[in-house]
Amino acid sequence: MSERNIIAIVDQRSATAPANALPRIPDTLPAPTGLLSDALGRPLRDLRISVTDRCNFRCSYCMPKEIFDKHHQFLPQSALLSFEEILRLARLFVAQGVQKIRLTGGEPLLRKHLERLIEMLAALRTQDGAPLDLTLTTNGSVLARKAAALKAAGLQRVTVSLDAMDDAVFRRMNDVDFPVADVLAGIDAAVAAGLGPIKVNMVVKRGTNAQEIVPMARHFRDHHGGQVVLRFIEYMDVGATNGWRMDDVMPSAEVRRLIDAVFPLAPLDASQVGETAERWRYRDGRGEVGFISSVTQAFCGDCNRARLSTEGQLYLCLFAEQGHDLRSLLRQPHPSGRTYTDAEITGAIGAIWQDRGDRYSQLRASQPPSTGPSGRRIEMSYIGG
Ligand code: SAM
Ligand code: SF4
Ligand code: SF4
Repeated sequence: MSERNIIAIVDQRSATAPANALPRIPDTLPAPTGLLSDALGRPLRDLRISVTDRCNFRCSYCMPKEIFDKHHQFLPQSALLSFEEILRLARLFVAQGVQKIRLTGGEPLLRKHLERLIEMLAALRTQDGAPLDLTLTTNGSVLARKAAALKAAGLQRVTVSLDAMDDAVFRRMNDVDFPVADVLAGIDAAVAAGLGPIKVNMVVKRGTNAQEIVPMARHFRDHHGGQVVLRFIEYMDVGATNGWRMDDVMPSAEVRRLIDAVFPLAPLDASQVGETAERWRYRDGRGEVGFISSVTQAFCGDCNRARLSTEGQLYLCLFAEQGHDLRSLLRQPHPSGRTYTDAEITGAIGAIWQDRGDRYSQLRASQPPSTGPSGRRIEMSYIGG
């Protein structure tokens, strides 16, 4: 890919402001069956909820310092969904078939009293009466302090993002001089608290941290007895502020070859439909690794994920240009003066999902990246990973 595909560094936050149109309430409101499918036959199973747009890191691929500086306007507290609002929507999504909820951000552990929200969500049950698969993605910076309380509140698992073992490289990548030892202590605490199987996500950026691939693989093979699964993520053209270029993407196949040359690998079957990672195991039995090839191998075909932003916008794709304003259904009165009912909001969610035809990564494979007709792109820190 040529330099022509550089995406300009501009702040698109204002362009991602919620649309004002209220989601459509269908005329008939049948009881949800949990068997919803979208326009491409994909079910709704996974809901990612962003609980804050703030973060204490400034990873250049996500919240570059020059954009997310002291002048950047984060959302005011009043714009955020309250825990009660999140719980209400989560319950309605679960009725429509969601089985897994992932809390994200921004940095989710910066949201005050998050344990209380986890307790509330942990009490939900799927259509079959099973507990939800309740998990959270974190940069790990305060995990050492919080792991035990998160587990006690009902969190089942965590995914920790970590891009390097080398302290200097890691400090440069988080761009706030945060030491790697504190994140490793967070991972240790999560293992000790029983928040496993723990996944560690490493975004690989050519020319930045590719030299860290083998040291990362070595570390997580040698520690925790295979309880921590390291996953390599291709650097994505998400958002509009990170100056993404195809030249910076290191394809998973190349990452896998590098590891295989040192620690031989064998493929594993996917454990779940809709799983984003291709799984491989070490031939010597020391655990497994995953590869998330969002750029070189689109996995839209069975994408069952919906994303709820911090301010209650529903996005049907990581690359969606427009959200669906569920918060207004929670906060604004119905034209008749009453509030919207659960049945109406559930119906609106169902209608939105049934119309869904998003498959950005698949289309990107055949077209050069663009910011789309509106020029809008949602930031990863706004919608979560
Ligand atoms: N702050 C938390 C963290 O870093 O884990 C949660 C939110 S973060 C937006 C979620 C995930 O998105 C992280 O694993 C991060 O590495 C990943 N991410 C952010 N920007 C990315 C990009 N441009 N390409 C690939 N992954 C990205
Ligand atoms: Fe923060 Fe996570 Fe984005 Fe890094 S990837 S800036 S830790 S939200
Ligand atoms: Fe799902 Fe959109 Fe990613 Fe495709 S590009 S896998 S539809 S989130």
